[in-house]
Amino acid sequence: MGIVSGKRALVVGVANDKSLAWSIAQALAAEGAELALTYQGEILEKRVRPLAAQIEASVIGELDVTNDSQIASVFSKLNDKWGGLDLLVHAVAFAEREDLRDRFLTVSRANFAKSMDISAYSLVALARAAEPLMEARGGGSILTLSYLGAVRAIPNYNMMGVAKAALEACVRYLSIDLGSKNIRVNAISAGPARTLSSSAIRDFHTMAHEVEARSPMRRGMKPEEVGTMAAAILSDLSSAVTGQTIYADVGYNIVGF
Ligand code: NAP
Repeated sequence: MGIVSGKRALVVGVANDKSLAWSIAQALAAEGAELALTYQGEILEKRVRPLAAQIEASVIGELDVTNDSQIASVFSKLNDKWGGLDLLVHAVAFAEREDLRDRFLTVSRANFAKSMDISAYSLVALARAAEPLMEARGGGSILTLSYLGAVRAIPNYNMMGVAKAALEACVRYLSIDLGSKNIRVNAISAGPARTLSSSAIRDFHTMAHEVEARSPMRRGMKPEEVGTMAAAILSDLSSAVTGQTIYADVGYNIVGF
């Protein structure tokens, strides 16, 4: 029996087989959860469907996290399908390419708002939609993904660092709102991994190389290590853990120089 056997999970943020959300979905499936995935637009649907088939997950529908009617529709379909929800994975972020390089100072008002909406507010919107479904199951567990740039100024991470700082604060406030309903909210702060999103960050390879050279474990983080950590945090094995940002970064965050 797996550590999330019998749990029903929604995973948002699978774009392809490099996505951290895909590593998490695979780990949850391996640990016995039943999964539903979403996609954003027709191109991603074509990529997500074959991946979902590999782990016998259902594709519950299209979900652009800035679209409230799509959020309502996805959670209503989940309610019809399962009558509740145990686990929610939020692995979504966005910043314009121009705001992931050079000076943070130059970010426009519109780009700042869009990045905060997709990368931080969306966790609040999804948690609010998940609340009644999790209550129906006697509780639940919500997980999002962050990065060290939330708490340290990392060259080029710029706008995304500010959005991740807001996201980590959202985790803390949501955990207070939902804790008495036995719903936990946590973040994993992952090390650098080569994905579609991270390829937009200028000089990403330097970030990754730094971790390999200087982290206590002297290697990079493997995406599957985010998956297994996510399964552990989402599972009842972590029943006293909420409001936390937990580092799965081969220890890089503790190193001075
Ligand atoms: P990814 O595969 O590109 O996943 C990012 C996902 O966000 C994609 O599925 C993307 O879909 C989705 N997304 C963007 N805007 C959206 C919207 N409006 N509505 C719904 N989905 C939207 O990259 P990833 O690296 O795995 O990122 C997953 C999470 O991990 C992000 O929060 C990221 O910040 C975090 N993280 C990544 C790293 C890393 O080094 N890769 C490290 C720490 C934390 P589209 O492709 O359609 O835009």
